[in-house]
Amino acid sequence: MSYIALRGRSVLFGSVLAGLLAAACGGAEAPVEAPSDVTEEELVSFHGVSARDIDTTLPEVDTIGYDVALVYRGEEARTVSGREIRTPVFTAEVTVSYVATQPLTSLTVDFKNPHLGRVAQGSRTLAFSQLDADHVKVELGRTVRAGTGLKLTFGYEVLSREIDERESEDGGLVVTPSLVYSASWPRKGRWWLPLRDSPRDGAMFAAKVTFPAEYTVVSNGVAKGTKDEASGAKTWSFELLSPTPTYGFFVGASKEWVRADARAASGVPMPSWVDKAHVSKRQAVLGDTPKALDFLEGTYGKFPFSQAGFVEAPTTWGGGGMEHATVVAIDPRTFGGDTEEAQSTAIHELCHHYSGDGVRIATWADFWMSEGFTEYLTLRSVEAVYGKARSDAAWAETIRNAKAQASLHALRPKNDAIDVREIFDGVAYVKGAWVLRVIENKVGRAAFDAFLKAWFAKHLYRAVTSDMLKTALEASFGKTWDTLFESAVYGTALPE
Ligand SMILES: [Zn+2]
Repeated sequence: MSYIALRGRSVLFGSVLAGLLAAACGGAEAPVEAPSDVTEEELVSFHGVSARDIDTTLPEVDTIGYDVALVYRGEEARTVSGREIRTPVFTAEVTVSYVATQPLTSLTVDFKNPHLGRVAQGSRTLAFSQLDADHVKVELGRTVRAGTGLKLTFGYEVLSREIDERESEDGGLVVTPSLVYSASWPRKGRWWLPLRDSPRDGAMFAAKVTFPAEYTVVSNGVAKGTKDEASGAKTWSFELLSPTPTYGFFVGASKEWVRADARAASGVPMPSWVDKAHVSKRQAVLGDTPKALDFLEGTYGKFPFSQAGFVEAPTTWGGGGMEHATVVAIDPRTFGGDTEEAQSTAIHELCHHYSGDGVRIATWADFWMSEGFTEYLTLRSVEAVYGKARSDAAWAETIRNAKAQASLHALRPKNDAIDVREIFDGVAYVKGAWVLRVIENKVGRAAFDAFLKAWFAKHLYRAVTSDMLKTALEASFGKTWDTLFESAVYGTALPE
């Protein structure tokens, strides 16, 4: 996301997949024959893609993928807290594939929705209870062994206006007269989806989204076609088969979007959906994004997702953008505002596909590993696309802002479980970028570019910590980074 205040499973029974899963779980390297009596829970894939890189350090489960079916019903009357209201209503059925990381008799999901009607495992209905406002505990009715798969289906409604009334901030599924969009960062995804929403627990995402035919629907991943429903509505299908943080799950629909298509030199598709009021600004804001992607791929390696799309949709923090993998959002206020600001926002969200989306953060305390890396990549891309004079000016402002804000808190606070909103200021962005520039200056640009390229490749679709970065720097450059990390990363000092 951009910090605006600164600048403005399907189950498969094939033996090959069994082997892949065994390898992913740290078992045999060579494919093994699946026993003929294997139960479905022993094999996990999602839309034909095997679960890989199972993170056994996650509590209870590692989530593999979310299959979301969402139907927009329009406004209906509902009784909420004893009061009848009219509200946009969505019907959701979400099937989630997990791998157990420990023996399980129950599973707790992050879900802040009082309308959960049914939880099932296949045809078996499971008991569940609301642990607190934010969590639902599902009783599995048996013990699931560590390393085996589990697939649960959740059926519920989302009442958009009820979210408005219960919460102090916008989010979940937001409905305006012409636009519907999801807002999930940082933990608002649980307002509309039953998640395991640690940034560490990335997952694949597939959606079937049904809207009245006058809407255009956009979601993460590759569009898999549309289907006309008997009701006159239309169902749009999408698949994102690379894991990404749950805060980047996105569904949007508008009656006003106009689509255009572009491509990077490598062929990565770069579609954009812009409000018809801003079509005349599309070329100015997004026209250079293919050049930015050419620079990123040439310097830091192949783009890690199937598409680099842009959609004009609001953020809930008053401008900027949000890095939903494959379909980043640019807020209309930013898209229609200062052109350089909008260009930098578009490039920033594009860069997040390397840091934040492709390589995830393990904890919210490592937020700078997403935003500081992304801001560093942004300024490098700005230099490549718009020239050194513009990037020098941007670096001067970045360093000035970092000096002004550094004392607010450590770049990487000690508390792993910190609420990211407590550190959602400029520090992660500007001081984070500056720390990386200092490292670049110490080791040289070519060496640092090679280091980052190897870093992104090694940790792609996995989660990283600040300590892992320090260890990797020591391994590559053979000198101690204690002073820089103790003072400027784990402390409030300026980098030097
Ligand atoms: Zn960002």
